[in-house]
Amino acid sequence: MQQFKTYTFRLYPSFDQKKKLNSFLGTTRFIYNHYLDAKENNQGLTFYEMKKDLPNLIREYPWLQEIDGCILRTAIDNLENSYKRYEKKLGNKPKFKKYSQMESYKTNYLEGITSNHVKYQNIKVDLANRTIKLPKISEIKIRGYRNLTSFDKKIINVTVKRVAGKYYANVLVSENIEVLPFTPSLNMVGIDLGVKTLMTTSDGEKIENIKGQLTRYERKLKGLNRGLARSQKGSKNREKIIIKIQKVNQKIRNAKKFYEHIMINKILKDNDVVFLEDLKTKEMIENGSHGLAKFISNSNFSDIINKFKYKAKILGKKVYQVSTYFPSSQICFSCGMKNERVKDLSVREWECPKCHSLNERDINASLNILVEGMKLYFKDFDKEMKLYLENLGRELDLI
Ligand SMILES: [Zn+2]
Repeated sequence: MQQFKTYTFRLYPSFDQKKKLNSFLGTTRFIYNHYLDAKENNQGLTFYEMKKDLPNLIREYPWLQEIDGCILRTAIDNLENSYKRYEKKLGNKPKFKKYSQMESYKTNYLEGITSNHVKYQNIKVDLANRTIKLPKISEIKIRGYRNLTSFDKKIINVTVKRVAGKYYANVLVSENIEVLPFTPSLNMVGIDLGVKTLMTTSDGEKIENIKGQLTRYERKLKGLNRGLARSQKGSKNREKIIIKIQKVNQKIRNAKKFYEHIMINKILKDNDVVFLEDLKTKEMIENGSHGLAKFISNSNFSDIINKFKYKAKILGKKVYQVSTYFPSSQICFSCGMKNERVKDLSVREWECPKCHSLNERDINASLNILVEGMKLYFKDFDKEMKLYLENLGRELDLI
């Protein structure tokens, strides 16, 4: 399976390299602002014309010769994207960029042969020496992926980022991932995704949201935000606090990612077929309003579902999503009666008016998802069995 993957390395540039990286980042801003200004004065100017104009600009500002040319073009691409987003009403009107704590530039991988028949690559990750070679800059020391000894991958592009005074390179590669075949199995599980309890399985297991485990970071964030409110705009102190806030936020994001990764792996290790809800189900049944918190939890759900699908494919497992209109929370698993009263999210436990069984909201939902998912899976079962036997070199009618 061909798959895109990003490898993030921390960069340890020397003093001179840092100066260069900063000038590259500054150039991205400069080009963006220059053509934004030109576009504001001449609405008819196209992005293609801007790119064609670059050699003129380089003649006008000779220091641009020192800059990786790809950066100049991608800065115009960024401007184009900002305008497109604005036109589609997805973003604000493009504004002039100012120096900020988080900036990035992107450069594409190129390969060629120089005049003396030497193979030329403008980007190279050398894990023996732990360096990265980027266009127009000497080898920069890197850290990350200690267990990798060689980087024999097809590089697509690199995004260099400066976040709170630290430098990173996101190396996008296309790689071939080995995929295990699926073995038809009755080892199945239904999973209910939730805001408070992240995942509830039909085996009755509850995986809590990591939020409760992040109180240390949250306390720190609270204190920093208080400090930020008291600090003076434009002061050095304020700048320092902003950097600290970014660092804590990054730590929270990393911890969350790692936690989800561990939990999803655990479920896929214990089960061969996983049933999840279609995201829209949750939105429609449980979201009366559209607050920011809900938006966040929903995007988190889709992230989790995507991780399940991706990992399952590699591990030779199956993931099915049950129908958009299936009200998993409202149906009593024991007798199948639909209880509208359970629509209200605050109802955590309810007694079925018909069969009088006591239902815990999330476990009941996950059991319903299991049964609904089984219907989908069994429709595919013959096909999967046939495929499996074919791989073994046997015929279906042998069983
Ligand atoms: Zn019932």
